[in-house]
Amino acid sequence: TSFGFKEVKEEEKSRLVGNVFTNVASSYDLMNDLMSGGLHRLWKERLVSKLNPFPGMKHLDVAGGTGDVAFRILDSINSVGKRAMRDIQDDNTLDETQIFVCDINPNMLNVGKKRAKERGLGGDKSLIWVEGDAEALKFEDESMDGYTIAFGIRNVTHIEKALSEAYRVLKPGGRFLCLELSHVELPIFKELYDYYSFSVIPAVGQLVAGDRESYQYLVESIRRFPSQDKFASMIVDAGFQKVEYENLVGGVVAIHSGLKF
Ligand code: SAM
Repeated sequence: TSFGFKEVKEEEKSRLVGNVFTNVASSYDLMNDLMSGGLHRLWKERLVSKLNPFPGMKHLDVAGGTGDVAFRILDSINSVGKRAMRDIQDDNTLDETQIFVCDINPNMLNVGKKRAKERGLGGDKSLIWVEGDAEALKFEDESMDGYTIAFGIRNVTHIEKALSEAYRVLKPGGRFLCLELSHVELPIFKELYDYYSFSVIPAVGQLVAGDRESYQYLVESIRRFPSQDKFASMIVDAGFQKVEYENLVGGVVAIHSGLKF
């Protein structure tokens, strides 16, 4: 059975999204690996390399759930080269790095906090977990150097609101980056991908997570998400400059970016 998505009302959508992530929270990482063949790791690496994180930055990762993106940002900042750069600055006033992980679902945040502990980052002051909605961020205007949202904006009820909030909280010069499942237009590959997503993903969801409907929902939400060009124009409408996108694996995913001037 499907949810009959065409008729789903806005309040309904929020509730459904909540259920989906409550149901999948514990099996979430395994499912990501299974469904993307491990590729989501490379995509997130790519997102973080585009962000070019730096020591002392204030960063907001929205829909950050299990911390996957935040951990990578922190790793990048703590990587040898960058630490060396910081060490040669004999400026002790260098601001502390702060990476805020914001998610609407406390179950996802709990999985993230647990994973942080497992990685020895339990007491790391750079990581700050915040329950909150992408459409109404609890952060001040112009407080962030960077904003990322990975596989999150598709689930937000009003995409324009999330984009204008992203714009609001970024400092001038701040960068917006969005990694999202997108649209494949290549013939044959498109047919294969359709088969994979409509038949294989819900079946794997049933098998591994015991939850076909949630994964069916995820697949349908990918279909309803705006095309790469349309989404880019929405980012422009939110006020961003230098808006561009990069397709990965023929558009299975796309990374959109924009700058606040
Ligand atoms: N960014 C993580 C990743 O890439 O592995 C998690 C992505 S997961 C597919 C989507 C996340 O978006 C879930 O954790 C869900 O709770 C969160 N989410 C959904 N709607 C949201 C909203 N309006 N505001 C903030 N987070 C939201």
